[in-house]
Amino acid sequence: MMGNCQVRFLGEAGTATRRSLPDKTTGWSLSEDCRQITFTDKKGIGRVKMLGTRDLGFYSADQIKRVRLIRRADGYFVQFAVKVDRTEVLEPSGSVVGLDVGLESFYTDSNGEKVPNPRFYRKGQQALRQKQRRVSRKVKGSKNRAKARVRLAKKHLQISRQRKDHAIKLARCVISSNDVVVYENLRVRNMVKNHCLAKSINDAGWYQFRIWLEYFGKVFGRLTLAVEPAYTSQECSSCGVIVKKSLSTRTHVCECGCELDRDENAAINILMKGIGMRGHLKTATRDVENAWGELTSTLLGETLAEAS
Ligand SMILES: [Zn+2]
Repeated sequence: MMGNCQVRFLGEAGTATRRSLPDKTTGWSLSEDCRQITFTDKKGIGRVKMLGTRDLGFYSADQIKRVRLIRRADGYFVQFAVKVDRTEVLEPSGSVVGLDVGLESFYTDSNGEKVPNPRFYRKGQQALRQKQRRVSRKVKGSKNRAKARVRLAKKHLQISRQRKDHAIKLARCVISSNDVVVYENLRVRNMVKNHCLAKSINDAGWYQFRIWLEYFGKVFGRLTLAVEPAYTSQECSSCGVIVKKSLSTRTHVCECGCELDRDENAAINILMKGIGMRGHLKTATRDVENAWGELTSTLLGETLAEAS
């Protein structure tokens, strides 16, 4: 498994033209105390001092597979790709969960629990909009415009770091409290290209959340499954009949007597798609508990084989 370890180093902040140089597998060396890195290829970078608290001395030299130099709005960074075998043993939790992501909440799970959107999502949108306006008001090519662009870029960076932090914490929590986590296989390319700011921030957040779910799934030996998103909000999770509803209909009401929050109904459908069963969740859960051992070992084996 590859992990990234990032260290900022002394340098001047400025507007980025090219975000990163090609990955380096050779052409660099670390000082004895791992606080300085020297680039030995003839690009004129030479020796630089690294800031930050990450201790690279923890890793042996052959564990560091790649080095990447990145310029961000608030400085230069050296990113080390470190090969570590990280697996931790967790007791089975006896729970399975389906997650439905949405604009109203960050996600709703198959137990009806809603996780709200983090506050920085909305605050971030406002700040981005304001900083974007400031850029467009300045004269093109002027120094003030360049400054405003740096401020905008820094805001973007801040939001993406908060988003990552949020995704990591939440994913770790979901994985450690469930044996199987099922979610929709949303198409990322479509999501990122939309023009609605609120939606694009959420999309990026869900995408990152999913990546971390899968990462922690491997680390803790939990099963993560992405299912096709068709009909998950329209189907009745109790009887399987299609109950058409518009986006504004917040409750699922079926003739069979099933009445649920719209997103909870979707989350149950997602869970059942993942575990390949239709019917009442309670029986499904029990079956999954029994079948879990076998299922995880085969499916996890497959995903791990793909990754390596
Ligand atoms: Zn029904």
